[in-house]
Amino acid sequence: MIFILAKQDANFIFFKCILFLNYSKRIFYCKIAYRCNNIAIAHQFFKENLIMILKTIFLIYFAFMTSVLAHSSHKKTLKAHEHGVGVLNIAQDGNSIVFEFEIPGNDVVGFEYKAENDDDKAKVQSALETLSEYKNLIKPSGSAGCVKESSTANIIYEGNHSEFISEYRFNCENVSDLKIIFINYFKNLKYSKKLNIKIAGSNKKSAYVIDKSKKILNVKGHF
Ligand SMILES: [Zn+2]
Repeated sequence: MIFILAKQDANFIFFKCILFLNYSKRIFYCKIAYRCNNIAIAHQFFKENLIMILKTIFLIYFAFMTSVLAHSSHKKTLKAHEHGVGVLNIAQDGNSIVFEFEIPGNDVVGFEYKAENDDDKAKVQSALETLSEYKNLIKPSGSAGCVKESSTANIIYEGNHSEFISEYRFNCENVSDLKIIFINYFKNLKYSKKLNIKIAGSNKKSAYVIDKSKKILNVKGHF
């Protein structure tokens, strides 16, 4: 099942999509924002190209389903995760920086069973919306001119465990000026105690374990 929501706000057009993949027990949530200099032209474009846009969305949907199926057979077992400890991988690809979080369901919503009642389903949905906004977890310092390109958040179930996976991709104008990352993770994930961070920058690779007291991550010299 797939839901797409388009919304206009000033010069921005937002697309929100929620994909329910019942057979693999996955929910995929995405939010894409386009900045349009001329909103009237954008409107005309969407009107004239509606069929093409819908076709593209379905192609992405099927590509995603295929990747989900391919992924599910290779994905490491979630039993390896430790409750209270999240994982953050930061990777550089040229001017792009990608932040990927793997967070035990317990740390996000306080349980890991498949949500059945309305109350639990609402908690999972609300968590996915929180995680789809990068500022709730991290924020690159302004000096590098990093602009968000995409963000995704979804939940994976396996056995008695679940994990939230979210990813934020930025394009940075001055990537070498990225020296500080603000950590908002613990403010929004109250059950979380630690975060295992791995940074793979072009100039330096490193690993850190941080706790609730850490609000700023120094990444000087990595990118
Ligand atoms: Zn678990």
